[in-house]
Amino acid sequence: MGWEGQVGQTAQIDINMLLTEDHSEFRQDLLDHYIGTLGVGSVLNNQNRADPLWTVQDFRKAVIQLQTTAEKFHRPPVIWGLDSVHGANYIYDTIITPQPINLAASFNRSVSEQAGIWASRDTRKAGIPWLFSPLLGLSWNPVWSRVYETFGEDPVLVGTMARAMTDGIQMADDDKTSTIRPSLAAACGKHFVGYSYPHNGHDRAPSWIPIRHLYQYFVLPWKQVSKTIHTVMESYTEVDGVPMAANRQMLNHLLRKELGFDGMLVTDYHEIFNLYEWHHVAKDRTDAITKSLQEGTVDMSMIANEPQDFFAAYETFEQNDQWKERVRTSARRVLELKEKLNMFEESFNLTMDDAKGPMHSDEDLERVLDMTHQSIILVKNDDNVLPLDPQKSLSILVTGPTAHSKSFTTGGWTWQWQGVDSRIEDQWFTYGSSVVEAIQKEKKWHVSYSCGVDILGGNCDGGGDFHEVVEDPTVMEKIKNWVGLTGQDSDLSVERAMSQAASQDVIVVCLGEENYTEKPGDIRGLRLPAGQYELVAGLREAAPNAKIILVYFGGRPRLLTDAVPHVDAVFVGFLPGPLAGEALVDLITGRINPSARLPLTYPKFEDGGGIPYLHSLSDKCTTDTGGYLPHWDNSLCEVQWPFGHGLSYSDFQFDSITLSTTELKVPLGKQAPDLTISVKVSNPSSIPGAFPIMLFTFDIYRSTTPEYKRLRVFEKVWLEANSTKEVTLTIPGEDLRFIGDHDDQHYVYQDGMEFVIGMGPDVDCRTNGSDTRCSSVITIRTDPDYVGACEAACNLWSSSTCDRRVGLDGDHCWKACSSIHFDDHLEMNNDGW
Ligand code: BGC
Repeated sequence: MGWEGQVGQTAQIDINMLLTEDHSEFRQDLLDHYIGTLGVGSVLNNQNRADPLWTVQDFRKAVIQLQTTAEKFHRPPVIWGLDSVHGANYIYDTIITPQPINLAASFNRSVSEQAGIWASRDTRKAGIPWLFSPLLGLSWNPVWSRVYETFGEDPVLVGTMARAMTDGIQMADDDKTSTIRPSLAAACGKHFVGYSYPHNGHDRAPSWIPIRHLYQYFVLPWKQVSKTIHTVMESYTEVDGVPMAANRQMLNHLLRKELGFDGMLVTDYHEIFNLYEWHHVAKDRTDAITKSLQEGTVDMSMIANEPQDFFAAYETFEQNDQWKERVRTSARRVLELKEKLNMFEESFNLTMDDAKGPMHSDEDLERVLDMTHQSIILVKNDDNVLPLDPQKSLSILVTGPTAHSKSFTTGGWTWQWQGVDSRIEDQWFTYGSSVVEAIQKEKKWHVSYSCGVDILGGNCDGGGDFHEVVEDPTVMEKIKNWVGLTGQDSDLSVERAMSQAASQDVIVVCLGEENYTEKPGDIRGLRLPAGQYELVAGLREAAPNAKIILVYFGGRPRLLTDAVPHVDAVFVGFLPGPLAGEALVDLITGRINPSARLPLTYPKFEDGGGIPYLHSLSDKCTTDTGGYLPHWDNSLCEVQWPFGHGLSYSDFQFDSITLSTTELKVPLGKQAPDLTISVKVSNPSSIPGAFPIMLFTFDIYRSTTPEYKRLRVFEKVWLEANSTKEVTLTIPGEDLRFIGDHDDQHYVYQDGMEFVIGMGPDVDCRTNGSDTRCSSVITIRTDPDYVGACEAACNLWSSSTCDRRVGLDGDHCWKACSSIHFDDHLEMNNDGW
């Protein structure tokens, strides 16, 4: 392939550049120009217009037109990438699964894998073989607008769920009789790396992550996918001041060499030009391209608009041997990807056949409902007010801004980038019910509805539709209220809800957030609009004896501090999708026993204290001694609910922990043996249920300040009523390494390091070591010749391939390094620096 063909393979453009004015189909002359003449190798996105809704047939027809054009001009097949992040969420009438934060709440790997299988199946039915999913970031700032796209805050949970979803997306169909063409899809791990922890919570703000922390936490999920995932997307962020698209250390050293990623690396939207326009590290667009070629290992640029500048810049590179080699490598990776996905055999022979037939079966929807049950967390249930008896005649008021919406329970990346406009929600969602609709289906209950407040906390008598209020002249005031900056007059509709509340047995109040995605979802604080809290307080005042159940739907943990004391039970729903209503009713009635757990720490205050739960042990809050300053005492920061918290209607119990050993001997040059832990779990209650076992380590001391605790392994177990199970879990010996105090990039063991294992999210083995859920002390014992520096140096030596070239292999390197004798003045410490 010639130079111009290779450059084309590295270019990706937005399909919105190629559509007719009404966005109903591709314009052939534009396809001829971009795909045919310029040889663009990839496109992305859906049509960003309200109307029409594109079905599987529409997408597939477009794909066929695209590939026919490529064939006509003797170009390789064109690869289309789509943000199918919770199902094929841009394609009409396909399966919409809960958002990733909800999948993580299931603590069930197979839930995430199944979500990946469906997303892949439905996207491929539409003719598209590339999904921009999953996210591998750790949500460490609750303000960030992309929390809901992540699998939460813990590296083990995020890595496990992301790996499962990747496996699901990339899995070949096992039913050969119905194999869809394209037969395979690629997942895209995003966003490399550290993007999920913007320093002030605003999307795309720089990440201030020390390299030690980056390796110790943020890199870990990537280790689980880097050798199997076909593609990776770099990110909008800057780590330590260096934008990712041209970050040699992150893209070259870390991603390609240390993590061994050999697949295709794509930029995020417009990111190469952003080196000039957003990050200001290049003097113009051409310089931006040069920098990314020189410093990074990006293969494909999501240009995504204005490709003329991209192609013009490359014309000037044609004579440069260095760039020619660099572009050849990237074009090869793009072509290898297309080959891996069988595109050369399949793409030019696609037919409309795979787009026929029903998009989902009743059985599929039952399984989505099961997934949705597993994703909604019961966090408070005072005096066991729940479950409610569906056979009892109860009067129930349903109220609040998310009670009457399927759009607000589903969130962004649905239909369009910013989520489903409530004006078309009945048209878009082909299944599911809002909370009020689902509760109304209960035959014995007398259900009434009052809107309470709108999503901005204001008077909802006018309908409470965000899209209507943006046309209102007081829009700025309303938006300020949405981000929690002002109060808003909600008196009228709150009063109406209060007057209806007075006579009720039960009140279900649904709070939450408006839809958003990425930067448009930035907020300045975690509080919800004041009117939403006023509604809850008003309901309690009006109905002091009613049982009040609060349900929160939103993409991040907005504060519920002022509402929780007024209510008897709370569900954190996050964004479970269109089946939220049905699933919630099943949980409220006890037809289904709740089994979800919080995949992140739920904050209690604006400062986000206590987040993430694996914060450094020295990270504490002062204890408020009654409003007087200064506060002399300090302790762990108070949070609303800890990571892993969640209730069920069964009463699970467990026996003491049995360990395979209390001394882990690390042979020289090898990793520590795996630690196996057996626990006996029982369900003495009469209600069957599922229970995620979570094992945490508590490092007693270490050369870098230990975390308060860390999740090491989890497994969800199902227990019949009055039954017991013994479960054995394994912590890989390799995971017990950490980044030592002398070097910020290498994982080492520390001789004599002690830790204990604690079972469950609410056990604190630091303050209560005699708790039966805490193990005995386990000690790491390294070989007397073990030196952390030698391990780091010899691993580097081997991975650099110098061992093969020079002849000193890894084992010999170890021996040579650790046997070095130092004179008295240069005594090595255990780490060897
Ligand atoms: C987002 C990515 C997404 C891409 C393509 C970007 O703005 O950060 O997550 O895959 O757009 O839509």
